[in-house]
This record gives sequence, C-alpha cells and structure tokens, in this order.
Amino acid sequence: MSIDDIKDLTLNDKWAPQLGYCEEPETPLTADTFPSKSGGKPAWLNPEHVLTVDQVTCSSCDQPMVLLLQLYTPEDHPPEAFHRMVYVFCCKTGACVKQDWTKCFKVFRSQLARENPYYPPPAITDDEGESDDDEVSNFVAKSFKAPRLCVICGVAGPKTCGQCQSASYCSREHQMVDWNMCGHKQQCKSSLTSSQQQERENVEQLRQTRVFTEKEIVSEPEGKGEDGAEEEAQAAFSKANNEDSTSNPTTENALVPAGEETAEDSEVLVDDAFLRFQLKLQLYPDQVLRYDRVEYDMPDREPLWVQQGQKPGDVIPACANCGGPRTFEFQILSTLLNFLGVSHVATDSLDWGSLYVYTCKRNCDLRDQVFVPEFIWKQDFSTDSMNFGGRGPA
Ligand SMILES: [Zn+2]
Ligand SMILES: [Zn+2]
Ligand SMILES: [Zn+2]
Ligand SMILES: [Zn+2]
Repeated sequence: MSIDDIKDLTLNDKWAPQLGYCEEPETPLTADTFPSKSGGKPAWLNPEHVLTVDQVTCSSCDQPMVLLLQLYTPEDHPPEAFHRMVYVFCCKTGACVKQDWTKCFKVFRSQLARENPYYPPPAITDDEGESDDDEVSNFVAKSFKAPRLCVICGVAGPKTCGQCQSASYCSREHQMVDWNMCGHKQQCKSSLTSSQQQERENVEQLRQTRVFTEKEIVSEPEGKGEDGAEEEAQAAFSKANNEDSTSNPTTENALVPAGEETAEDSEVLVDDAFLRFQLKLQLYPDQVLRYDRVEYDMPDREPLWVQQGQKPGDVIPACANCGGPRTFEFQILSTLLNFLGVSHVATDSLDWGSLYVYTCKRNCDLRDQVFVPEFIWKQDFSTDSMNFGGRGPA
C-alpha cells in the first residue's frame, strides 16, 4: 500500500469514528449524569448492584484493579440497552501488565431499559416539540439499601474499619493502603472525637491518588475538526513520507534499510498499519479514544491497528451471555496515559500502543445479570515485547 492509497482510504472513509478527548470535569461526574470518563471511582449505572473486588482482581499480582475508563454508549436496540455503560478496569502496576497483560484487564457491559427502577425516563419529544411530561413527573425511584463502596476504588466494600465503622473497603489491600498511606490511621482516631473538615479533605485527596486521575471524556466525529487542518496535515504527512521512503530509499532515515532493495521485501518493515495509525493520530493528536461500534446490520469495522502484528485474529471469543459474535466497539489510545497521573519515567511504567474493546454485536439483553464480561485486546508499538498466542480475558 502506497502513501497515496493510505491517503485515499483515509479521505474516502465515510464511516467516521467518534474521537474521544479528555477534559477537566465541569460538574461532578455522578451516575445520574451518565458520564463517560477516565479514572476516578466507577459511576455505577445500576446503583443497587455493583461489581465486587473478585470480579476486578488482577490474576497476576492479586491486587484490586482500578477503573481505567467507563463509556456511556446508549443504544436504540434492544430496548434493554436504552442506558448502556462499558467499564474497563486495569491493574495499575506496569510491570504486571508487561509480564502478562491478559491477566491485567477486565471489561464489563451494563444496561438498563428506559423504564427502570432508578432513573426517570427522559422525556420523549414528538415532531411538534411536545413532550409527555406526566411519565417523567410521575416517576418514583425504587428505594433500596445502597451498597457500601470501597473508599479507595469504589467497587463493593463489604469490609468495614473495625474502629470507626465508617470506612468501607473492597479488600484488605485497600484497607491497608488507606490506613498507612491515605491518613486513615490518624483520621480514624480523631473521628472518634471530632472530625476535622480539613483532615477529611486531605484524606480524600490522598485516596484519589490511589486510582487514576478522573477526566471527563467528550467526543466528536473524526474529520470535523478545525477547517483545513486535515488536508494540510495529510499533505504534510504525505510529503514527509514520500521523501523518506520513496524518493531516497537508501538514505539513513529511510524506512527501507539498505540491502532490502525491493518494496515487496520490506513490507513488514514499512508497517502500513503504523503509517496509517500515525496519519490518523497526527490529524487529531489530542484524541485518547476512537469509538467505532457498527449498526447491527453493517459489516464489521476494522480498528486502527498500531502495527500489522499482534492482531487478535480468531481468538475473539463469543459473547459469554448469548453465544453470539463480538465486534469491535472502541479503542483506547496510548495518549490516554498522559491524563491518568501515572509516571512515564520508570521503565516498568504502565504502557500500551492501543487497547481494543470488543462487545456483543447483538448487544444482548442481560436479563437478571447486571454485568456481563466483554473482551479486550492489546497491541504494543514495538515488536520487541511481542506476546504472541496470548488470549485476552473473556
Ligand atoms: Zn497486577
Ligand atoms: Zn478497593
Ligand atoms: Zn477507621
Ligand atoms: Zn451477547
């Protein structure tokens, strides 16, 4: 594939994905606002039933994972997916992810119908702009006992601090973290007498550093950016690459190394996938996410691969709930790492080229389940740390 072919493909791609960008939240990203966000604690679509730590424990290091992101992706069909949330959890330990990433990620889908016990149905506006407000104003939310949530990570917190009885935890690990590193040791004692506002805030800030930094994810379609930026960037990219790879194939910077004279021989070295990836990223360098879920009757979409290798191939397992096929829904780019508050300096810091999330194509009804697992795949940028044959967590 030549640069011109790639350019054509890019410009003629009429199914533009939605690009996601990180922004500072303007208002609290609570569950009733149906947020798409990275980091922080999960905003549970179903406020009555939440994930337990067993469902999001890293099977490599046995530590609780934390929320990487959640996306609110409502669907018209089936009606049970009127509200739809996809949660991605990940182990915070980069070394763990490097060793065997398949043990370090979990994806869950959760759905609620328009009429559900927790949220008033949004008003339906007809052609004349009239809406039926009765349905909305008559809504009475179900009363239920809210589950206790871990003060560190926000999943179910069945364990309680024995002394103050006020802090809940998912696990002994997070209880220890809170006690030793987030100031609960001091807070616990003083809360028995008088709790200081300032102390509470300090503890809360320290707790927030134990999970990924919270950012709102906003989206807009690819190709609707600043006027002309796309064409300009395409032209510049095309020019730069033509100079490098075509005009002077034997120069020091060439993608085709000396001794590999024909283009055919260098197919793998001039990774078309990576060229295409670079082009797409260069146009909107701040994008952290690409959302590309297909309509039910449309042909499957290819993600934007980081490289030709490390593709999942045939390993994408069928939906654990309905047995139907899964299709690509969205990919998380490495640019998200810049917003998570993780160190890039350490050699074993958290890292990926792209994470690819596949979900049930039929978007099946979960019936009495609140969460069903979905599938994630990871590609790295370099071929050095290739991990062939690995199966992602189902
Ligand atoms: Zn781990
Ligand atoms: Zn926890
Ligand atoms: Zn306590
Ligand atoms: Zn399914």
